[in-house]
Amino acid sequence: MTTQPACYRKLLKRMREVSLLNSIAGVIEWDQNTYMPAAAAAYRAEQFACLGERSHRLFTARAVGGLLTECEQLGLAPDSVEGANVREWRHHYDRATKLPASFVVKFERTKSLAYEVWREARGQSKFELFQPHLSKIVDLVRQKADYLGYEASPYDALLDGYEPGARAERIVPLFAELRAGIVALLGPAREQSAATPADLLRGEYPIAAQQVFNQRVAAAIGFDFQAGRIDTTTHPFCNTLGAGDCRLTTRYDEKDFTDSLYSILHEAGHGLYEQGLPAEHFGTPAGTAVSMGIHESQSRLWENHVGRSRTFWEYWHPIACEYFPGLKSLTPDQVYRAVNRVHPSFIRTEADQVTYDLHIMLRFEVEVKLVNRQLEVADVPAYWNEQFEQMMGLKVTKDADGCLQDVHWSTGGIGYFPTYTLGNLNAAQLMQSARRGNPSLDGDLSAGRYETLLAWLRQQVHREGSCHRPRELMEKVTGERTGIRAHLDYLREKFVGGQGT
Ligand code: ZN
Repeated sequence: MTTQPACYRKLLKRMREVSLLNSIAGVIEWDQNTYMPAAAAAYRAEQFACLGERSHRLFTARAVGGLLTECEQLGLAPDSVEGANVREWRHHYDRATKLPASFVVKFERTKSLAYEVWREARGQSKFELFQPHLSKIVDLVRQKADYLGYEASPYDALLDGYEPGARAERIVPLFAELRAGIVALLGPAREQSAATPADLLRGEYPIAAQQVFNQRVAAAIGFDFQAGRIDTTTHPFCNTLGAGDCRLTTRYDEKDFTDSLYSILHEAGHGLYEQGLPAEHFGTPAGTAVSMGIHESQSRLWENHVGRSRTFWEYWHPIACEYFPGLKSLTPDQVYRAVNRVHPSFIRTEADQVTYDLHIMLRFEVEVKLVNRQLEVADVPAYWNEQFEQMMGLKVTKDADGCLQDVHWSTGGIGYFPTYTLGNLNAAQLMQSARRGNPSLDGDLSAGRYETLLAWLRQQVHREGSCHRPRELMEKVTGERTGIRAHLDYLREKFVGGQGT
């Protein structure tokens, strides 16, 4: 479109204003998660509430509804940037206008305080500290679902905020099938790992050396440090604070460099997606990631399909030895086996690729039960511990190793968790398609050349922004809806097939 109609231009101006306020909220959120002193929490909550209220008011103004209706009458092509923006703005507008401003303010305040208490509760491993805050959050997300409306389950209204169009009734059977597939793999995969000692990689890895090595790996896969940086947090994340500003965080274990390395590969995978979105559309849906399930596919793809491959260690082992001389006593194959050791464990973010999705399925199940009033908040630890033991054969003895380990509930993110597993499924499907479309891909990856894969992802996924819904995007790029086949084939070949890839 050469000249944009006045209604579209007005709408665009308003949406860029909203996006500016949201990006400021992003900056103070990043600060809260990295450097903010604890005593600042109450005032920070006021700051979030102020920005949240203003942004909500601007976005939900009646004038916006009028402009959207005008734009919808223009007959914009659905796959054009303008058409996609109007469709997505409408979706978000309808969701947002159903939430009263007073509700949004209350939710923001509650979340901000709950987050601080969760940190404290996790530190002391005391669920009872967090319990009253979680109760408030669960009440609020139920109210949110009621405001937003849903067909089959209130959970769908929450899930839709992270994975547009996804439904619990499809995820439940998909996960059940996946769980059966994983459980069937788990025994043989553990056997294959049995010869690899758990502490094979334990050693001395100074933080400064880890930082330089991680930065080198992140730059090699294509992360642009002119438009991003890495800081330290307890819970690693990737946040875009504005155009040209993508922040990654990680944590360091001086005895095990793989903790920070793989969290950086993961977060840099998110970062590559963010940096690959079309900059000219920043702050609009056409310049925004399509869903969390697609976002997570990018992080998982770089972390696991690339970073946990045999060829990755064949290439990077000699370089890693420059930074960590202790690794010289190991072969690339030993490092490969050590970073792919299958062993059930308590902490999701430390889980191996085979058991990882079992963690997700449990939290998804607990969330659905909480939202559907089939489980009381006070009973969460007992339920969690019982289910976890059944699934993994491990007894949870402290809440910090169980239901308190993850930040999401404290930030109101109920409905987010299934997107982790959808991400794994999407990653495997995308990787299969990337191989089909690029016969030189494996050779390039073996030589430490990541441009082929990145260029393909840029072209197929990143540049699309939110021009397609997640389901359409997966069908367009991989020829099918998100399913379990590619992921299970990958796990089977890698963990049970003998040699591994
Ligand atoms: Zn992630």
